[in-house]
Formats: sequence, structure tokens, C-alpha cells
Amino acid sequence: MPFKLLAETMDRLELVSARTQMIALLANLFKSTPPEIIDKVVYLVSGVLWPDWKGMPELGVSEKLLIKVISLACNVSESQVEQLVKNTGDLGKAAETLKGKAQVKVSLFTFTQGVSRELTVSSVYNTLVKIAQAQGEGSRDLKIRLAAGLLRDASPKEAKFIVRFIEGKLRAGIGDATIMDALAVVYGGGSAARPVIERAYNLRSDLGEVAKILAIEGLESLKRIKPEVGIPIRPMLAERHNDPKEILAKAGGIALIEYKYDGERAQIHKKGNKIVIYSRRLENITHQYPDVAEMALSNINADEVIVEGEIVAYDKDTGELLPFQELMHRKRKHDIHIVVKDYPVKVFLFDLLYLNGEDYTVKPIIERRTALEKIVRETEDFMVAKYIKTSDPEELEKFFMQAISEGCEGVMVKAIHKDSIYQAGARGWLWIKFKRDYRSEMIDTVDLVVVGAFYGKGRRGGKFGTLLMAAYNPEKDMFETVCKVGSGFKDEDLDKLQDLLKPYIRSKKHPRVDAEMEADVWVDPILVAEIIGAELTLSPIHTCAKGVLKPDAGISIRFPRFIRWRPDKRPEDATTSQELVEMYQRQLKKVAKAPVEGEA
Ligand code: ATP
Repeated sequence: MPFKLLAETMDRLELVSARTQMIALLANLFKSTPPEIIDKVVYLVSGVLWPDWKGMPELGVSEKLLIKVISLACNVSESQVEQLVKNTGDLGKAAETLKGKAQVKVSLFTFTQGVSRELTVSSVYNTLVKIAQAQGEGSRDLKIRLAAGLLRDASPKEAKFIVRFIEGKLRAGIGDATIMDALAVVYGGGSAARPVIERAYNLRSDLGEVAKILAIEGLESLKRIKPEVGIPIRPMLAERHNDPKEILAKAGGIALIEYKYDGERAQIHKKGNKIVIYSRRLENITHQYPDVAEMALSNINADEVIVEGEIVAYDKDTGELLPFQELMHRKRKHDIHIVVKDYPVKVFLFDLLYLNGEDYTVKPIIERRTALEKIVRETEDFMVAKYIKTSDPEELEKFFMQAISEGCEGVMVKAIHKDSIYQAGARGWLWIKFKRDYRSEMIDTVDLVVVGAFYGKGRRGGKFGTLLMAAYNPEKDMFETVCKVGSGFKDEDLDKLQDLLKPYIRSKKHPRVDAEMEADVWVDPILVAEIIGAELTLSPIHTCAKGVLKPDAGISIRFPRFIRWRPDKRPEDATTSQELVEMYQRQLKKVAKAPVEGEA
């Protein structure tokens, strides 16, 4: 398949913003793709070579190296490339322009010599893989040679795409949701196939593989997909609420109430004596927790199993549970055995997803919990999450207070009716989180994505001081602005902002960003931060859920404050616009219920 088909589609995708147009363009591309290479096409349009969780090497070509590559491929000096990048603010564009000029010369050359190699999807993909796999001594030169070779054979549009891909700029470009919609159109006969594709993706976390099974074997094969040990399952997520009575009503009356531990989510896969641990973002974090792997090996009595739980740090002197931040010590690459001793952890298991050939995600929670308890041998550091079963709001509140007093964040309320399956990759009311108040009117923090930035004034002049933050709208697959946040940053956070944002800065608003205000610079929607504020408000200048609650107004946050970065979250894991609508409505109810000042 000629690579130019893909490059042209990507080029046209840059110009459209309506979701339906994006889906149509992608669907056209998929129609022209031979089924055996649909996985490669899906990876390339998503800006990756393989799913991140596979832990395969990254391309490892810095901006500086790319400038060298472009200069070699286009026969110009590096300073010429640098100048062009300065003018356009965009390496991909610079490569396109230079290739355009170079092409005129080359076509004269080929006219007389007759040599021109057409790039194919497979040849480009395979060369990119070779670039990523070049490691160790001499790899820098090899990477340069391979990349320059690719660019030499590329047309201007192809060069733009390849450069953006190598830079990592395409990662935020097209969402998985849009790709799945297009796959449903082409291979599934329309939107009815969408949930089947989504479920397969949630169980396999590999959209390329799912597309290939769909294209080659058809929808029926996708329906039969089961979890597999070693392949991470996208985690089930919870809605939030703060009224015990309503929480129980939403859960169906009676529910399982579990401690909500404040640690790191862990999906533990065990096969024989091999353990792999995946994070909330599906990263392989086994090396950070050799002690957890050991505990799982000795205390889970099953040959093939996938369980989920929370890893929590504790004080080795008092045994008290410590907050999530303490786990940061485990992030180091070397000498992990030293940190393991100084920062010990406990594991609290809360779910069973797969056991000896059987898919447990489709079973109700009580069945999952009963089977989990049967296979786990509890120790002081490895146990099943504490829980009660109740339909009484007062009992729920009491258990909540008990959880807080034991160092937890609150409780997780889980529906136990017959349809209480494990909804991989979905946020729903089967699980409801009820968290400690952050001593603010806003009951909970939200996770928002940076989409723009503003320069500071005075002491911070010339440096970023304020960020434009957005919520995710999964229906539109867009990021909608919510607020500008300029407070809550420590000086060291602000000092690091420059470098943190640099790789994601762009001259124009990203096509997946819906904003009405102008930022000083636009930023690719990649970085997620946790934000708290005084309250939610309606604002005419923000686009989050615009028009849903009031014509011409979106949802915003008054006095927003930065709390921390959330590197464990992907942009699509940010708080959704719909969640903010619900939070706003609950806030209204709370205000309505509050006694008026002066009343008895
Ligand atoms: P989310 O994961 O819902 O996007 P988040 O990462 O901001 O949100 P929280 O809002 O604090 O996290 O709540 C969900 C997380 O709580 C889960 O991802 C899991 O790591 C943790 N957790 C702790 N205890 C439990 C439990 N008993 N059941 C399920 N999750 C639990």
C-alpha cells in the first residue's frame, strides 16, 4: 500500500474539525488498506509503533537529531533548517517546505537519471521500527542514517508526516474513539459494531491487533475475545458522589462498601511463577515492586490469574498507611532493593478478572469477590480490601469515617446486582467513589488537560505562569476548556513548566481542542493535572459542556488551584465534560439544601 495514501489522509485530517468528517476520512483510508497491514496503519495514525504497555523501545530521536536528519535528507545546512523551524515553529512544516524545494531539483535529476522510490506503509513502518530498535554503540549514527534515508525517498507531505511521527507529535492527534468509529463503519457494518470493538479493545489494550482480527476474521471473532494473562485490561472506573443516601440509591439499594485506599492501582498478572504488574495507565511497573511480585507469587493460589488491587505505602515503625505521594520513591530505575526496604508497601486486592481460563469480567461482583477470597492467602501485607455490605446510609457513613481514620481516602461503593460486571475501560455507576472533603466547596478535585499557556508578568515575565485547562468530551473526542489556572504552583513547579511544556508547544490550536479564548501559546493535549477550586460556575468564555446547562455558557471553576501533575493519566482519562455537568448539578442541590443564614 503506497504510504502517500496515509500521508494524504493525515494531511486532510489536519484541516477538518468535525468528528464525522474525521471518521469518514479514516474510514476511506481503512477501506484502501489490505487487512494484513491494518494494524500498522492504525498504529501509524495513532502516532505509535506499538502499544506503550509492551515496553518496547521508543524512537529516541531528539529535536536536535531530527534537524540533522532533515539537513542531510534535503541537502541544506543545519542552520537553514533551524531558521525555518524558528519561522514556522514546526519541524514537520520545515521538512515539508525543504522537501518541496528539493523535489524540484530531484525531479530534474530523475528526469535524466530515472530513479525514484515510492514509499509503502510497510517500508516506512519497518524502517521506523529499525530506528527504535537501534540501541547501544553506534546507534545514534544508524538512527540518523535510517531516518534521513526515509526522508530522502519521501514527498513533501510524507516528510511532514514522518517528522511529526518521529517527534511524537501525532500521539495526541487522533483519539482511539475516532479510530474505533471508523473501524466500525468499514468492518462492522456501522455503529452497532462499535461496542464489540470497544470491549475487545478494553480487554486487549491494543487497537492495532483488534483492527487486524476484525479485518481478517470478522466481528464474530472479536466477540470471542477473552482476557489473556500478560496483556493488560483497561481498568474499570468509578463515578463520584458525596451523598450516602443517593449513592446507595444509585447502586441499587444494597451495595458492597470497600475502603478506598490511597495508593497506586495495580493489575497483577500471574502465570505459573511469572508475575507482571501493570499500572492504571497500563505501564509495566513490575520492576518498581519486586516485593509485591513476591507476595503475589507466594499468596495467590492459581496457575493463571489476573487480579486487581491497590499498592499502598506504610510507615515501617508504626504500620500506618501513608498517602500516595510516598510511592514516588519507587519510581527510580536503579537500586530498587534499597528503596523496597525503606519504603515498604501493602497490597489490598479488590477484584478478580480472570482465573484459569475463565473470563471473570463478565460475572457479577459477588462471584468475583468470593473466588478472589478463595485463592488469596492473606498475610499482614497482602490482603483483600476491607468491606461491608449494607443498604443503610448511616452505616455507610460510619464505615467511611472509619476508612478515613485508617488513612484511606474514603470508600468505594460497588453495586452488587446481577449485572454488576467488570466494565473494563468504562466509567459508570456500578462503582461510586465517595471521598474525603478537600475542605473546599468543591467536593472533589478534577483532572484536566493542559491545552494552552500564558506568559507571566513581573518577576515571572517571559515564562509561563498560567495554564489553560480542558476537560475531555468523549462523544466529540475533543478537549473543552474549563479554566485558567495560575495558582497552587510552587516555585519549583513553575521553574520546571518551561521544559515540561516545550515538546508540546504548537503554533496553532490543536484540532482536538475546542477553545474560544486565545492562549499565548497552544499546547498539545497530553499533560494532565489535578485541580481544585472554590466552586463550579457557568462562564461564557469556556467551552466545556457549552449550552448544556445554559445557552452560550460552559462550565468553569472559580479560583482554580493546581494540586499536582498526574503522569499516571492519559488525556482521555481526564475528567469528562459530562462529569463536570453532574458535579455542577450536585453542587446546586447542595446549595439548595443548605440552611439559610439566620434560620434555626
Ligand atoms: P479514576 O481512576 O476514577 O480516574 P483517580 O485516578 O483520580 O480517578 P480516584 O478518584 O482517587 O482516582 O479513584 C479511583 C481509584 O481508586 C482507582 O483507580 C484505584 O486506584 C483506587 N482504589 C482504592 N481502593 C479501591 C477499591 N477498593 N476499589 C477500586 N478502586 C480503588
